[in-house]
Amino acid sequence: MIQFTNVEFTYPDHTFGLTIQNLSIIDGERVAIVGPSGSGKTTLVKLMSGALIQQRGTIISCDTKLTNLNDRALRQFRLKRIGFVFQEFALLDYLNVRDNILLPCRLGAEPMSPEARDRAEALARSVGLHRHLDRYPQKLSFGERQRVAICRAIVTSPSIVLADEPTGNLDGTTADEVISILDDCVQQSGATLIVVTHNLELTNRFDRTIDVSEFAAAYT
Ligand code: ADP
Ligand code: MG
Repeated sequence: MIQFTNVEFTYPDHTFGLTIQNLSIIDGERVAIVGPSGSGKTTLVKLMSGALIQQRGTIISCDTKLTNLNDRALRQFRLKRIGFVFQEFALLDYLNVRDNILLPCRLGAEPMSPEARDRAEALARSVGLHRHLDRYPQKLSFGERQRVAICRAIVTSPSIVLADEPTGNLDGTTADEVISILDDCVQQSGATLIVVTHNLELTNRFDRTIDVSEFAAAYT
């Protein structure tokens, strides 16, 4: 569950902010976040993950009040409870596909278990990447790179998957495939799925659409 109550956020230069009196997303819900460029979609997902902290109000994410966490606890929370997928893939060029998928496990400071490796390989197989496990990202198509990023996002079985314009660098057909894979993988894991998208056709797949323009705070 993600719950925003009386939240006010503004950037330090006071040129943009969001005011969110009440927003609830229940466990397992699949939500599309839409709005024009610059309307605050990325800002909203950063508030959900604790990457930005509001000036007022309360945000509860996975039963955790984010303002109660110190930096270290927040980092652990993000690593364990949230999976991230980005428009630019954000894969590490010097790690092969297997090690890119396993990155959140490594950063979580847990010893690399055979179970984690098995899980990474099973995920790669489920999205058709098993032949690429020893390859490096630059040898892969953009659609394949985003599939690696999806495996990386769910390898720790997070409670929430946040995908910020995951199809922004993909053509129409590949975008559809990637959204299907993301949706299937996340549904199997039971996680909540939050996808920022410009593509209104893709929003049909989701339980609900949130237009972030509704939350824009007024600035002069
Ligand atoms: P979207 O993802 O919908 O395109 P963003 O959430 O990235 O929009 O940005 C919303 C607004 O906040 C934009 O006007 C942007 O310029 C501004 N903004 C984003 N990041 C910062 C920042 N670090 N400092 C000040 N303003 C910012
Ligand atoms: Mg954005």
